[in-house]
Amino acid sequence: MAQHWKILVWLIAGVFVGLALQQLTDAPGSIGAKLGVESDGVVVVRSISKELTPKGRASAERLRVGDQIRSIVLNAGMEDEASLESVSSPEEVTGFLSAAGAGGVASITLTDGTVRSCQVVLDPGSDRSRWLYPFVFLADIFMRLLKMLIMPLVFTSIVTGVAGLGGGEDFGRLGRRTFGYYITTSFLAVGLGLILVNLIRPGDGAQLGLSTQAQIGQESENWLDILRRMVPENVFDAFTGNGNMLQVIFFALLFGFFITRAPEKPRKILSDLLDSAFQVVMLMASWVMKLVPYGVFCLLVKVVGETGFDVFIPLSTYMLTVFLALVIHAGVVLPLLLSIVGRVSPLKWFRAMSPVLMTAFSTSSSSLTLPTTLNTLKSRGKVSNKTSSFVAPLGATVNMDGTALYECIGVVFLAQYYASTGDYALTFGSQLTVVMAAFLASIGAAGIPSAGLIMMLTILSALNLPLEGAALLLAVDRPLDMCRTMVNVWSDTVGSAIVATREGETGLGDFETPQQAAES
Ligand code: ASP
Repeated sequence: MAQHWKILVWLIAGVFVGLALQQLTDAPGSIGAKLGVESDGVVVVRSISKELTPKGRASAERLRVGDQIRSIVLNAGMEDEASLESVSSPEEVTGFLSAAGAGGVASITLTDGTVRSCQVVLDPGSDRSRWLYPFVFLADIFMRLLKMLIMPLVFTSIVTGVAGLGGGEDFGRLGRRTFGYYITTSFLAVGLGLILVNLIRPGDGAQLGLSTQAQIGQESENWLDILRRMVPENVFDAFTGNGNMLQVIFFALLFGFFITRAPEKPRKILSDLLDSAFQVVMLMASWVMKLVPYGVFCLLVKVVGETGFDVFIPLSTYMLTVFLALVIHAGVVLPLLLSIVGRVSPLKWFRAMSPVLMTAFSTSSSSLTLPTTLNTLKSRGKVSNKTSSFVAPLGATVNMDGTALYECIGVVFLAQYYASTGDYALTFGSQLTVVMAAFLASIGAAGIPSAGLIMMLTILSALNLPLEGAALLLAVDRPLDMCRTMVNVWSDTVGSAIVATREGETGLGDFETPQQAAES
């Protein structure tokens, strides 16, 4: 069976197994903390389980060991709001959360009045968790294999890409085309988001009940800081975290460029060495590609099995607005660009790139998808190494159309809500701020799950809006993240095709013989 069909079949199977687990087992909620009682009878956090703090997740201000809990409100302001006033024992909290089930957001008030909000996760000791364990385990191994490849791929592909351009005119031209594409499509995406959110107005009169003082634990960042952070203080530090991609890209671009400026001997040695390393890492990537269908299966069982659908209902108009914008951008705007500017049939390109889209959908991460993206661009897209190794790794971090429009819709949605409750005026000027900020946020967001939501905090604080709104959006972030990541990488592949055509490459997307194409 062709790879794309195989992935699709396993993807759908994953959804069904996840749904079956939802039907067959309960999903008791938990805040992932062990509680105890102080001598004065106050309930206190004794330890925090690791489940609550997976790296890279946009978790809300988390509980800390020693926090003394006074009361808990679940899904504040929503239809299924529930509260536990004056907490008196750990068992009471456990019972309350397990009855409520996983998936909501808990606002926890401490005895000193501080409010922490955190996601209610699936109780790790429950039946559902035990059933999910093998899938979670295998999904983690799959994700780790992908993660393992990100840094070596980004570094070797960008350096060889840039060094291969020989500096000078070629580098400048490819750079201009690539960044021209990134900027154009990101602004188109933000513009589309802005139009739709103003037409549909999902925030007007929404029943969100955001009134508590809950804060997300993230210092808002100045825009200049994002630029400053791009320059690594220590490259070896940058290589140690998959979140430092912009720093690695910055270093790789310079390194590649200066290889072309180096004298003959080091230039030859370094180009050959890095080119060989790139080829080997690509071989590893194509080996991991074979595992994609099974990895996708395990990831979907995990995601569907862990998430209940009830939390989506109060935010459904907002979610629909985001979906609609994503569909129009990916299904109309980008295909138009692809066929007019790139002269490639969008349908053919879509078929060629389908493994990439399905990997992005299941991993929610452009960076994790990069091994698949590079491999697919080469093997199915027939894009040259020169173009793909420049456009795709940069795009995975810098070019995020889905995230850009999501930022815009999310922020305006919350602003509309606050405006309709009379606390805030959403002016034309602030909408312009949103456009610029959403564009910058999409550049600054790392290609990891929920990065877009974290970046949203920056925009909210730029508009002087309370950050607690983002905590609410956290509850429904996963499905939106899956879809926007798919659009992010779709745009990277469309960009690769357009730049490749402009560079004079032909036969793009011709991975099937005419007969195979007719059969599938
Ligand atoms: N998960 C997205 C990506 O990796 C970023 C985001 O959260 O918007 O492309």
